[in-house]
Amino acid sequence: MATVRFYALQEAQSRKPVKIEYPEKKTSDYFAVNVFDKRKMLEYLSKDAFDGVMDCIDKGQRMDRRLAEQVAVGMKAWAMDMGATYYSHWFSPLTDGTAEKHDAFIDFSGSGGVIESFPGKLLVQQEPDASSFPSGGIRNTFEARGYTAWDPSSPAFVLDRTLCIPTIFVAYTGEALDFKTPLLKALSAIDKAATDVCQYFDKDVSKVWAALGWEQEYFLVDEALFNARPDLSACGRTLVGHQSAKDQQLEDQYFAAIPERVSSFMREVEVEGYRLGIPIKTRHNEVAPNQYELAPIFEECNLAVDHNMLVMDIMKKIARRHGFRVLFHEKPFNGINGSGKHNNWSLFTNTGINLLSPGAKPKTNTQFLAFLVCTLNAVYKHQDLIRASIVSAGNCHRLGANEAPPLIISAFVGHMLSEMLDDLETRVTNKKMTPDEKTELKLDVGKIPEIMLDNTDRNRTSPFAFVGNRFEFRAVGAPANCASAMIALNTAVAQELKEFKKDADKLIDKGIKKDEAIFQVIREFIIKSKNVRFEGNSYGEDWQKEAPKRGLTNISNVIEALDAYTSEKSKKLFVENKVFTERELEARTEVRYENYGKKVQIESRILASIALNQIVPTAIDYQTRLIENVQGLKELFGNDFKEIASGRLELIRQISEHTSAIKAMVNEMTEERKSANKIEEIREKAYEYSIKVFPFFEKIRFHIDRLERIVDNEMWPLPKYTELLFTR
Ligand code: ADP
Ligand code: MG
Repeated sequence: MATVRFYALQEAQSRKPVKIEYPEKKTSDYFAVNVFDKRKMLEYLSKDAFDGVMDCIDKGQRMDRRLAEQVAVGMKAWAMDMGATYYSHWFSPLTDGTAEKHDAFIDFSGSGGVIESFPGKLLVQQEPDASSFPSGGIRNTFEARGYTAWDPSSPAFVLDRTLCIPTIFVAYTGEALDFKTPLLKALSAIDKAATDVCQYFDKDVSKVWAALGWEQEYFLVDEALFNARPDLSACGRTLVGHQSAKDQQLEDQYFAAIPERVSSFMREVEVEGYRLGIPIKTRHNEVAPNQYELAPIFEECNLAVDHNMLVMDIMKKIARRHGFRVLFHEKPFNGINGSGKHNNWSLFTNTGINLLSPGAKPKTNTQFLAFLVCTLNAVYKHQDLIRASIVSAGNCHRLGANEAPPLIISAFVGHMLSEMLDDLETRVTNKKMTPDEKTELKLDVGKIPEIMLDNTDRNRTSPFAFVGNRFEFRAVGAPANCASAMIALNTAVAQELKEFKKDADKLIDKGIKKDEAIFQVIREFIIKSKNVRFEGNSYGEDWQKEAPKRGLTNISNVIEALDAYTSEKSKKLFVENKVFTERELEARTEVRYENYGKKVQIESRILASIALNQIVPTAIDYQTRLIENVQGLKELFGNDFKEIASGRLELIRQISEHTSAIKAMVNEMTEERKSANKIEEIREKAYEYSIKVFPFFEKIRFHIDRLERIVDNEMWPLPKYTELLFTR
């Protein structure tokens, strides 16, 4: 009997690279053609309307109805010229993906036919039924409406002949049900706080924007093989599978030549991405087989987040045209690297200065130091919140597994900068500096860029690393909406910048000169945040021992890690900075608990069905064959058969042991699930799943993976790791 795996392999191995049409033009000729950007606005909007939109973007304001009417007319005309017949508000609910509800541009004309219509009120606001999105108890069933409203700072675009309008998504009562709403608030908080600090150094600074450059890792798996694996199809990761004899141990994958089927997929993603205005810049093979990375040039944080969500959407779509499925799961395969999404973050002023890049002058360098120490302090103080922002059912498999940062949040700045901070700590004191001391200090601070140029050391094991002109937050999971991490980080840094200013102003009020006051506060922040700086190997066991002594926590249980969202400290931070209300924060955390519990529940069910309906029956079939063989040997050799059949007898016994263990454990796991399901309280239920159900996964898998090595290859029902990882 041929297995599903057999047909899947036949299909996968005969697949050819898809020939794609390369655009005839240069990238710059068609970049952003599908985006209603400034150029198109200038063409399709009146001067007044254009200025109005720009004003809304610059000031982060909502649009009034009159302006909206004007913009809607222009936007519709452009979209129709692009062939669009539908429009949709496009938003990020609290799921892993995006949401869109399409409506056609039509309305009755009043004289029998239809006309193309798109009223301004539908541009700025719509009221989708919110009842089927996660809300953490915010929406009542009697008030299930939510509304979406255009975020003009992220431009509309046409995708598949549909005009997509990036929007926020909030409950009718005003609470956020999405990622964008709080992100915009966090970005506004850091804008205000950072601009205030910049005022010490440069009066021309009136705006600071956060930059985000994400690096997206992913796996590609042949679609036929993917479909033959219920675990991949339903959970996005393999729940069973013996490691491939060869995978990444020869380190021959990273940056290796890109297979043709894959490069044609990548090329199509890039072309589509360019049309949508996504500045895709980098592509390469990653460490694990069939693992790749895609990264654009960094952009303003809100736009970068939207572009990341959009890229993941189009990658999923395009992969299927190439007979692939793309896996964004943080850990699709045991034993090889999982996928992360590095978030490169920095802050820019309207005057074009990167505040996290050492400047050419002592003054800009002092400013750089101020922002550096505020960031370090934010990461130290809010380490638990920052961890909460990135943990998930999937990410817990990757973090701390010697391939990605551990669950201890520390920061790396490189040893030269670290020495510089230590030096400042000893040289600056509360006493008044002599003019000579001051000059010398400023000169030394001015030397930072030179020092760093020669010493761009990198530490790959740190979760939060300074890399010369930005921080790279490496603990974010590949499928995550970057907004979650960016909300926590930007809000925490905003708060520290406010504290910085408060402390400096206090000293200045006491009559201390501005530059000295700033140095004193920098020193104070260096001392306060010292414990978070770690230059060593974050993967090492020593660090696990040392971190707690420094007041750094290490929480590996996802539910316990998520608890930090609603700690008094986090609530205070978010409420004071007007990013979340307490209720929003609690609701959101509840969504995360629930999401975790449900994911573990689904995985547990899938694992049980694979085990009982696919693996155990196959193993028994094979065992029956062995038994028949042994019986034949007995007929032939009489009493001597035992010696001749000893190997087979041993296998028969092993199969019985493994299948019995599997059955017993699946039963136990099912019982645990049943008792967890009786718990009403959402956090408690999810926690029960984390400590009672989850631990069975590895144990059951162990026996299944053993059976994979015993059972005849021809009979094995699931595509094996080697096939999943090397078919391309
Ligand atoms: P690496 O793999 O060495 O970390 P990549 O080139 O793959 O580097 O990705 C680096 C990412 O960081 C890119 O998205 C890049 O645009 C982004 N980046 C560079 N400078 C900054 C900055 N100042 N702020 C934010 N992101 C940045
Ligand atoms: Mg990087």
